[in-house]
Amino acid sequence: MHLTTETFVQNSDDAIGNAPLQKRLRVLSGFTQRRAFAFSELHDGEALRDRARAIKADAIAHLDRYLIQLEESVIRLGGTVHWARDAEAAREIILELAKANNVTSVVKSKSMVTEEIELNEALEEAGIEAVETDLGEYIVQLAHERPSHILAPAIHKSKEDISDLFADKLGIRDLVLPEEMAVAARKQLREKFCSAGMGVTGANFAVAETGTIVLVENEGNIRLSTTLPRIHVALMGIEKVIPKFDDLAVFLKVLARSATGQKMSSYASFITGTRRSDETDGAQQFHLIILDNGRTRILADEEKRESLYCLRCGACLNVCPVYQKIGGHAYGSVYSGPIGAIITPPLMGIDKSKDLPFASSLCGACREVCPVRIDIPHVLLKLREEWVEEKSSHDKGPGLLERLAMRMWAFTMSHRWAYNLAFRVPAFFQGPMLKDGKFDDLPFVFGGWTENRDFPALAKRSFRSMWRDI
Ligand code: SF4
Repeated sequence: MHLTTETFVQNSDDAIGNAPLQKRLRVLSGFTQRRAFAFSELHDGEALRDRARAIKADAIAHLDRYLIQLEESVIRLGGTVHWARDAEAAREIILELAKANNVTSVVKSKSMVTEEIELNEALEEAGIEAVETDLGEYIVQLAHERPSHILAPAIHKSKEDISDLFADKLGIRDLVLPEEMAVAARKQLREKFCSAGMGVTGANFAVAETGTIVLVENEGNIRLSTTLPRIHVALMGIEKVIPKFDDLAVFLKVLARSATGQKMSSYASFITGTRRSDETDGAQQFHLIILDNGRTRILADEEKRESLYCLRCGACLNVCPVYQKIGGHAYGSVYSGPIGAIITPPLMGIDKSKDLPFASSLCGACREVCPVRIDIPHVLLKLREEWVEEKSSHDKGPGLLERLAMRMWAFTMSHRWAYNLAFRVPAFFQGPMLKDGKFDDLPFVFGGWTENRDFPALAKRSFRSMWRDI
């Protein structure tokens, strides 16, 4: 069963109580350490991040120009470009292509945007077999789940879980080592690559000046998905375009380091047009689908626009204290973690995902590691503000109790004697309520605070009185 954004709070509670999941999520800190080491080896790591941000800022500010240039370049190379306003339009284009070319089997590479448009479900409904070929994606597809991490879709599963899954779904038993599981999956997938009529991929980057679609990976499955089937369909959000081929020198350096701490990913495929007459492999047809699906709403908002700079490296997920406790499924969205919390509300509507912008301590760790320096905390605050405004436009205003409480608060804060009294009296009587020197269960409305953490005991003496004694 897919969890939804609307049940985020309950999903999070369940995730925190899920001991095996908590154990699995501990591996995330390893990604962050490897990232830090990979950047420390670069003498110009920070300058590269500045350059990456500047290129993205230029690309996003001039999307109209670069997307048209990309379209012209792809057509010049023999490819076809399709524009999709929303998920339904993108699904229709792919289904029509499959039907027109008698495709009955599709191999897919890991692509969040195809998750976003729910392509697998649409293909299956149309009677077309869709097989995920990234190992992690293959595992979650077998389990009928969604990916729980941008880069490591099956990070929530242990090797024992995967062994049981392979026994149950593939009839392959007694697999113990991860290598054995990889070999078993590879055998299944090889047949699919050879028989598929269409390969569907995302795009890490699309170069406007050359029409090159760039795909980075570590398993080689993308290379097979783009060269063995006779049709290659690449689906990209409008934000994936970059101006020049030379820009890749910057992005390829920061992407792999941010994602997995590698200097380079194992494979980088540059798809520039269809198979030439003197080439022995490659697709005979190439289709590029450029998807909006709410992205122009983000583009139109100056403060949220930088969300479109995202490279989907996953570094902000790995470092986020919230993601580290609840994992990806709790977000109920294809995009989880800090980046998911800022792009899901504008894509889906804030009313459906109102809790996501609040799922942050605003510690700023995500901004610190982001290769394009997206100011995620700032966008989170903007979304919180929008939600409060939206909510208050429907509210009748604060109730009697809230108004009374606010008046008392204002009175206390503006009269020193009342302020002193408000803290000293409870400090005097707090003794019986303390446990190990802390409150672990505050009464009345204050109880919300101690549901998940303790509250420190109130100081017996004020700061001013201690200061006087110095
Ligand atoms: S927001 Fe930054 S850190 Fe997070 S996935 Fe996107 S590029 Fe990576």
